[in-house]
Amino acid sequence: ATDGTDPLLDGLNPEQRRAVIARGPALLIVAGAGSGKTRVLTHRIAHLIREKEAWPSQILAITFTNKAAAEMRERLGSLLGAGVEGMWVSTFHSACVRILRREAERFGYVSGFTIYDSADSRALLKRIIKELDADTYGFTPANTSAKISKLKNELSDAHDYAATANASDPRERLFTEIFTSYEQELKRANAFDFDDLIGQTVQLFRAHPDVAAIYQRRFRHILVDEYQDTNHAQYSLIRELTKHVEPEQVERMVPPVRERELDGLGRIPGASLTVVGDSDQSIYAFRGANIRNIVEFERDFSNAEVVKLEQNYRSTQNILSAANAVIGNNFDRQDKKLWTAEGDGEKIVGFTGYSQHDEARFVAEEIEDLHRDGMPYGDIAVFYRTNSQTRALEELLIRSAIPYRVLGGTKFYDRAEIKDAMAYLTTIANPFDPISWSRMLGTPKRGVGPMAEAHLANFQEAEGITFHEAMQRAQEIPALGPKIRTTVVELADLLTRATHMALGGGATDIAPPPADDAATEATDGDAESTQKKPAPVADVLKLVLDSTEMIEKLRAKRDPQDDARAENLEELIAVAREFDAQQPGAGLLAFLTEVSLVAAADDLDDQSGTVSLMTLHTAKGLEYPAVFITGVEEGLIPHQMSIDELGGINEERRLMYVGITRAREKLFITLASTRATFGDIAVAMPSRFLQEIPESLIEWRQSPGEVTGRGGTQSRALNAGRAPGASGASWSRNRDSQVSFGASGGSSAAVAEPASGNMQSALDKWRERKRLAKEA
Ligand code: ATP
Ligand code: MG
Repeated sequence: ATDGTDPLLDGLNPEQRRAVIARGPALLIVAGAGSGKTRVLTHRIAHLIREKEAWPSQILAITFTNKAAAEMRERLGSLLGAGVEGMWVSTFHSACVRILRREAERFGYVSGFTIYDSADSRALLKRIIKELDADTYGFTPANTSAKISKLKNELSDAHDYAATANASDPRERLFTEIFTSYEQELKRANAFDFDDLIGQTVQLFRAHPDVAAIYQRRFRHILVDEYQDTNHAQYSLIRELTKHVEPEQVERMVPPVRERELDGLGRIPGASLTVVGDSDQSIYAFRGANIRNIVEFERDFSNAEVVKLEQNYRSTQNILSAANAVIGNNFDRQDKKLWTAEGDGEKIVGFTGYSQHDEARFVAEEIEDLHRDGMPYGDIAVFYRTNSQTRALEELLIRSAIPYRVLGGTKFYDRAEIKDAMAYLTTIANPFDPISWSRMLGTPKRGVGPMAEAHLANFQEAEGITFHEAMQRAQEIPALGPKIRTTVVELADLLTRATHMALGGGATDIAPPPADDAATEATDGDAESTQKKPAPVADVLKLVLDSTEMIEKLRAKRDPQDDARAENLEELIAVAREFDAQQPGAGLLAFLTEVSLVAAADDLDDQSGTVSLMTLHTAKGLEYPAVFITGVEEGLIPHQMSIDELGGINEERRLMYVGITRAREKLFITLASTRATFGDIAVAMPSRFLQEIPESLIEWRQSPGEVTGRGGTQSRALNAGRAPGASGASWSRNRDSQVSFGASGGSSAAVAEPASGNMQSALDKWRERKRLAKEA
């Protein structure tokens, strides 16, 4: 009950309110898209704090992306005014990194450990596969890393795998060897890969009940958004964190446990757990997400209170009806229907292009129209199933001078020059990491070849020292030529200076952070803040860039591409400055952590004056007044790879459901009747999901039937089979400005990238060229 002036309860319906004020040990909120799950979670946290039932430091809130975490923290700030600093609002990965950085020494790591992104782990796997000659058995960095990732998400290590593998199968034996060697190399490098962050934290808690107890005691309320997409490792982490602390642990705890922390049995009771989710939005099964987690929640937490929300506050009825119709075709679900008080709204607009360029032209024109009618660009989003679809879209957006950004697309931190500069910083923080060290040694080119590198690495291993120390002692390696020795020692000196700077003097290695101060609930600040103040990260970076002349060398080449690279490095300095300003004294390690987590999950920058482009996966949890779902064709959504997979179509259907339910007022669904992929132009068929939407909800600007009927594109494409023929006639109907696409024909060459890795870099280059062309 509320008197009508409570900002935490007023804007909520009775069911939502019940979820905010419930105080049992476990609460499950299951509800369809846009029903206010995230909002309820946020208000619940604010309510717990306002009612003094928890200190901010006793809250652990888990979101799916860093962006979502930032938004939630901001929202909490405005609901509560102040006091959210000590609260952990983060992704699973960020929370685990914080825990691991504090506890790393307990299991043979140093707190300055590196987090390997997928490129780093593949680089490591490539070396291992080569050493074991495993490529002849069909092992590639890509397929082994996928398999290892899957196993790790199931909390299986190489030892477990070996125990269940068929020992008489040479392939399985070989994989065991790769996996084992990979684990050893990671440990030697003082590095974790992305999946380890969660798995190792679980292992840490299981092996060290005293460590687990610190966090079990600290976090009194654990809240998880997007629970349907947790995998087994994440689920296990939650189970560990919500366990009670046994009396024998309680006795030994520092600071001493107070009477009021205990239950009647002398234990610290388990944390209360709130999870919110929608099984219809589970779209990460391919990464081990387990829809069963939500179904079995009630079994695992038998005393859980359950709240169901059915009113949708996001979309118009037409959009909801389309979403309901599509998801209704999944037979393996509990039926739930969303409704809204908003009214029907506009119909969904459908458009079929003759090609993806025609489709992109339509999207660009509609965006221009929306903008002309007063809609800010930031209110508009364009979704697609695969990254390769962005090219045609971006081309037309650039032509139309529509400002846009690609969320989670080509990442700033994936660029070669950025990785080069970051390799120096990583080596400073973790002088055991061979991947960063090798990258650093090789850039800029200083005449230290693979042989010299191998000599240094052997020396490092034989002496059991860091790579930094090995370089300092290069004079002791007779196999190195005198010139190389001097170069290497010089580089070591730079590293020494930078290390001193990064640490604020003295030490040669990053010191582990002080012991945890958890459970002293009055301290909102975290342990990190009491550390010795290091130099600003931007200064360290500048020292590295100035001494190596990386920027000057790029500028000197007088190549526009290299100019753009130099600009990126300058941008990196700006990023570091911004970080220093936001988190004064946080230091290098915090910066590296932030970069590796942000780079892996989502985008740092947030400009509201731009149209947002992203994959359907990235769109989860977001909402926009106007949404375009593009490429709604068989083979794209549902994706070709999912069609033969068990449950694959159902997962794709959920993805389509996620896409539709992002839209608030206007939804556009577009497709093309022919599409060029990898150099071939093929006929595209409308997606089965499109056909599941009642015709009465769609207003076609150009229906699939019209396109194949009038232009005869389909039969011609079938006859011609390949590229050139398909464009001609279809383009002739367009405005003059578009004809050049068909005529140039060269656009298909750019599409013809052999592998997706190259695709990304080609796209990168292409974007850069376009940007330069536009500026010129
Ligand atoms: P998704 O499943 O997509 O993550 P969700 O269930 O988390 O969706 P929210 O994002 O929390 O839904 O809410 C959807 C929209 O509805 C938001 O703009 C939110 O502010 C608004 N909203 C939620 N509840 C109410 C309410 N009671 N009154 C008005 N607006 C609401
Ligand atoms: Mg949500």
